[in-house]
Amino acid sequence: MSSPRRPGSQPSRGGRAPWSPRGERGRLPPVSRCVGMVMWGQQPSPAAPGLEDNLCAIAVVGRSCALYPRLPGRDGGGTLPSHDAAQTSAPCGRDAEGRALGSFQLGHQDNIPSCTPVQRALMLLTPSLEKLQAVKCRMLEAMDKGLSRQTHAQATVRMLPTFICSTPDGTEKGDLMVVELCQSHVRTLFVTLLGDGNQSPQLMYKIFDMPADMLQGTGEALFDFIAQCVHKFLEEIGSPQHRLPLGFVFPFSCRQTGLGKAELISWSKGFQCSDVEGKDVVQLLQAAINKLELYHVQVIALLNDTVGTMMASSWGGKPCEIALVTGTGTNSCFMAEAELVEVVEESNGRMCVNSEWGCFGDDGALGDVLTPYDHRVDQESSNPGERRFEKMVGGLYLGEIVRHAVLMLATEQALFVGASTSVLGAKDAFKTQQVLEIMEFGEILQSVAGLLAPECTATLVPSADTNGLGVAMVTAVAQRLLTQRHEVEQLLAPLRLSRADLERVQALMRQEMERGLGRDSNADASVRMLPTYVCNTPDGTERGDFLALDLGGTNFRVLVVRVMQEGIHMASEIYVVPTSVMQGTGEALFDHIVECIMDFQRKQNLMEQVLPLGFTFSFPCQQLGLDKAVLLTWTKGFSASGCVGQDVVQLLRDAAQRKQHVALKVVAVVNDTVGTMMACGYDDPKCEIGLIVGTGTNACYMEERKNVGTVEGDEGRMCINMEWGAFGDNGCLDDIFTTFDRMVDEKTINAGKQRFEKLISGMYLGEIVRHILLAMVDKQLLFRGKPSLKLQTRDIFQTTFLSTIETDGLALQQVQGILRDLELDASFEDSVLVREVCQTVSLRAAQLCAAGLAAVVEKMRENRGLAQLAITVGVDGTLYKMHPHFSQNLQQMLQDLAPNCAVTFLQSEDGSGKGAALVAAVACRETSP
Ligand code: ADP
Ligand code: MG
Repeated sequence: MSSPRRPGSQPSRGGRAPWSPRGERGRLPPVSRCVGMVMWGQQPSPAAPGLEDNLCAIAVVGRSCALYPRLPGRDGGGTLPSHDAAQTSAPCGRDAEGRALGSFQLGHQDNIPSCTPVQRALMLLTPSLEKLQAVKCRMLEAMDKGLSRQTHAQATVRMLPTFICSTPDGTEKGDLMVVELCQSHVRTLFVTLLGDGNQSPQLMYKIFDMPADMLQGTGEALFDFIAQCVHKFLEEIGSPQHRLPLGFVFPFSCRQTGLGKAELISWSKGFQCSDVEGKDVVQLLQAAINKLELYHVQVIALLNDTVGTMMASSWGGKPCEIALVTGTGTNSCFMAEAELVEVVEESNGRMCVNSEWGCFGDDGALGDVLTPYDHRVDQESSNPGERRFEKMVGGLYLGEIVRHAVLMLATEQALFVGASTSVLGAKDAFKTQQVLEIMEFGEILQSVAGLLAPECTATLVPSADTNGLGVAMVTAVAQRLLTQRHEVEQLLAPLRLSRADLERVQALMRQEMERGLGRDSNADASVRMLPTYVCNTPDGTERGDFLALDLGGTNFRVLVVRVMQEGIHMASEIYVVPTSVMQGTGEALFDHIVECIMDFQRKQNLMEQVLPLGFTFSFPCQQLGLDKAVLLTWTKGFSASGCVGQDVVQLLRDAAQRKQHVALKVVAVVNDTVGTMMACGYDDPKCEIGLIVGTGTNACYMEERKNVGTVEGDEGRMCINMEWGAFGDNGCLDDIFTTFDRMVDEKTINAGKQRFEKLISGMYLGEIVRHILLAMVDKQLLFRGKPSLKLQTRDIFQTTFLSTIETDGLALQQVQGILRDLELDASFEDSVLVREVCQTVSLRAAQLCAAGLAAVVEKMRENRGLAQLAITVGVDGTLYKMHPHFSQNLQQMLQDLAPNCAVTFLQSEDGSGKGAALVAAVACRETSP
């Protein structure tokens, strides 16, 4: 065994030199050399409309002979020059710049009479752009097949997921190890990253020769040998004993189900060790390492050399997202949208896909570009019919293609006339290296790629990854992701409620409901269970014209509602309530309201009429009658003085008197939940629950009057305004609250109050997300730990952002756009994480809401002595209506928590306005004989 090799320095820990490609020994794995070409551009993703500018960097290993000279540039229209155009632009063996083309002319024609046999042979090897375009399309088809769940197993281009979802971002830090299994040796690497943007990675490596008989021995012997290499290497470099993540480069076809989980499908390249196929090779290596008591070495990832190439070119500037390797064979990998990789559940972000494209064409897809020479090469190979694409591209074969071409020309007497050509009969007479020296590969690759994918601008970055820094970077990224995932999980864990948590919330809600209904316990209950004196839902016979007021939502509105046989007609006007009025005196507030009513009546020509008025007043009130409601407390940003403890209907009447506005007849004051229930009840008689999830949250339902201890009378039912937003104000939900919830609560004008509401409703969800994001930045989990001043601004992260960010199929670029408006420079991973945070917060909100509703429907079912209850919930609120998943999450969880209730949800159209009028109408129906 040789001693540890350190570019340009002696093996001592202190004297470790920064990584440099100097001083390499010649014997590195064969993969990092040779030739290659062919690329594809990224197609604009359908999920990302408007993303015309497809810029990508491609790492290329090696250089190549290629079959095309410099091509004419792209034509102005961005389309490919036709076969004829190519012919006319270079008519007689000269290109635009007058260079001799020989017969390396773009596009071949088989029967040009003046062609020499040599020209004809070369034209055979020079497919037209149209043909290449067709090959590109077939490659895309094959790639799609590989990505699709149904066709993945049969695909020629397997598109194997690598579970690498990220490129280096420069924050990677610490010591790590890589061990690479190669044809005849094992290479070990030790890398130290300083978290300095990967400016100066420090690297040591050593190559251990492998006994030749090992390839056909037992799997145990092989893995023991690899573990011993690790042991020896660590000993020699005096590695410390702290946890050391290890990446395992294992260049065989594996079924990977996680970063650190991969079953060997089958050996190749001369390996045939027993008892490995079908087993998890990560586990096998870890077991062998553990046998040597190297417990601090943890195999965290199985890697592919292609991914290493991509990573090695991925720092400094923008990330490199495609790699092209053409060693003896050829392969590529690229970052694909995760949702396209159907064999993996993950649908967020991107994942590196190892195309394994060497087998492209094994199903005949390359039929029309294969030449007689390709067929000869294939037939003489050890695996005829297989890896057809590789055999046209890989370095192992290029020399052979040339040999067969020359041989056939010699046989036709077109070359070497009179000379002995017996030397051409021997396999490998031409070295690929000799072929390579003829052409400038990179330039040709770039220009043909440009012609075939004019929508994409690709930068080719030759990879100089001769010492394995790339795979080390993959390991570093894997390590960073593992650590980050762990920290993210820790941070979000308190926000993820278990089924048991939700059952407990449901039980607590039930308990608080009972307490709120009880005459003696009412005062101590956090859920107030306020009687509304609404005892009937609409029956459809209600008629008449009504005025309605809606105060306590986002807007203050005045409406006129006509309830007629044909349906309900409404006209309304929105009025602003300035914050100074919301938080000024009660007199000013109610004066303002009366002025708005008068303005509305003038505009609607209603000054002469005295219409019954329903007042939707969406704050907690102790109702003493249908038209008598004592304000218990302000919520939702209101704090007008002199109102709490007063009958708001009287305050309104007083203001009308001050304004000498006599034509005001208030018949009912209702809560918006009640309005919503009534409005939906007009269309669906089963609607006996009202739910609001907007700025705040609340619910009401029809309770048996005999259960309402706070009101006299036992007959029939009464609608109870639960005021469930305050659930938990007595401390019963304290263990559900997270530090983020407490931070949000502390900054509100009603700290400690409306605790349930602050977990659920629109006024708070954005704030919760903002606090979580701040914590993540603080822990360096987001935005590379770079703080944003704007993100520190209260309420800057609106609840509408949750809806947008969580929209299915929304391209991550759009998430980045939202974050950019907050002066946050978000990477793709950042966007994925922000989305996860939003999902976690909105899911919790929906599930808590479901737990509350479950308590309500179960109580109603029991009240009525039913085994099954079918009931409808009338719902209002922009969060419920606009969030892409809230309603579904709510309904799913409710079904789960209350399986004996079939609950239908009916969205209310303007419940507050219509509902207030209907309460007034129902009241008039009852009082009129
Ligand atoms: P209110 O509850 O005040 O009567 P809404 O039902 O319209 O009014 O709710 C308004 C609240 O809904 C806003 O404060 C905001 O938090 C939230 N919201 C507004 N738009 C959206 C949206 N697109 N997605 C989620 N929440 C939203
Ligand atoms: Mg509302």
